[in-house]
Amino acid sequence: MPSSALKDSSKLLKNLLQTPEVVYSFRLFEEQADAITEEQIKICSIPSIPFGEEQRAEYLRQKFLDIGLSNVHIDAAGNCLGMLQGRFQSPLMVVSAHLDTVFSSNTDFTVRRCGERLYAPGISDDGCGLVALVTIASALMKSRAKISGSLLFVGTVGEEGEGNLRGVRHLFTEEPWAGRIDSFISFDGPGVERITNRALGSHRYRVTVKGSGGHSWGDFGIPNPVHALGRAISRLVSYPLPKDQRTTFNVGKLQGGSSINSIPSDASMDVDLRSCDEAELKRLDAFFRRSVHGAVDQENSTRRPGDSPLLLNIELVGERPSGETSPNSMLVELAQKATRNLGVEPELEQSSTDANLPISLGIPAITLGAGGTSGGSHTLDEWYEPRHRDKGLKRGLLTILGMVGLEQSNNT
Ligand SMILES: [Zn+2]
Repeated sequence: MPSSALKDSSKLLKNLLQTPEVVYSFRLFEEQADAITEEQIKICSIPSIPFGEEQRAEYLRQKFLDIGLSNVHIDAAGNCLGMLQGRFQSPLMVVSAHLDTVFSSNTDFTVRRCGERLYAPGISDDGCGLVALVTIASALMKSRAKISGSLLFVGTVGEEGEGNLRGVRHLFTEEPWAGRIDSFISFDGPGVERITNRALGSHRYRVTVKGSGGHSWGDFGIPNPVHALGRAISRLVSYPLPKDQRTTFNVGKLQGGSSINSIPSDASMDVDLRSCDEAELKRLDAFFRRSVHGAVDQENSTRRPGDSPLLLNIELVGERPSGETSPNSMLVELAQKATRNLGVEPELEQSSTDANLPISLGIPAITLGAGGTSGGSHTLDEWYEPRHRDKGLKRGLLTILGMVGLEQSNNT
């Protein structure tokens, strides 16, 4: 990045910090800390499971209406949207957090307090992101901030696991927003150091093998689906891993067969492939496919004349693209400077979040921690501590206003 641009973003932040709108919002983040935590508890007490985010989305819709956002609605994918219209339609920035959790329908989402600590499934991931969304939107409305570009606040569905980023995918690839969004921030989890600007790509597959099955002794020689998967796994784990780019594979679930003395008629496995490098992920993907096809062919080659061959099905159940928003981009630069401004050293990170999707489309996107601390993520013992949450909100606000621009107010 040319040094003039670096200077520009420093100057921009310095100017922002002196505006009455930012001063007002910062004070609100500090003074309303307890109320913000109460709001987080309300949001997180509403159950929200994968493919079952409706109730929480409806609560957020009501909240967006109360705050005074415009064009508030739930879209076809189930995302909850609300607009803060600036003087111009562009630059248009999406500010988001995800509505879903990883938990199943029988989960108790009641929030328990123990001292400063809040316990509940999803209290941090992404309860603190959702409340950041609400708080920042509310501060901008209350301070009567006149922004130059526009902000679209979005609670997304389907960020976790098999949700496969379906909410954010819908937003960026379908009408009416496809092609109109210029940048993207998601608040996901706690912390104030973290800036996720690199997207960790993954491919997820369900491999199913079916055969005729039979008696383990009497029909020996009939191709065995479990043996075929065993051969496939053996081939997969021999993958020559690259030294530099972190790359992983995992057979996370294996099923099949009915009894010890029966040749199974079916078997399946779920496989997760990841790499920080897109080309490496493609290589691993090709190796995985060759492994499975080769293993099934090998198992079929031993069959007796007249026996039917195994049938193979490889189903893609998840695909998250990888990529990077350059550390020298305006967005990452602003987020880093805003972090330093709060006396914290920023850390650029790689992760798998809603930002993967816009990053893969070449749209500047990052995921930020929403302040506070947490532990036990993705477990029933998940906890969150709101202390210093205001720092996460402050750097989020500064980054957002740096990107869309704040118009000079009359009362300066
Ligand atoms: Zn999350």
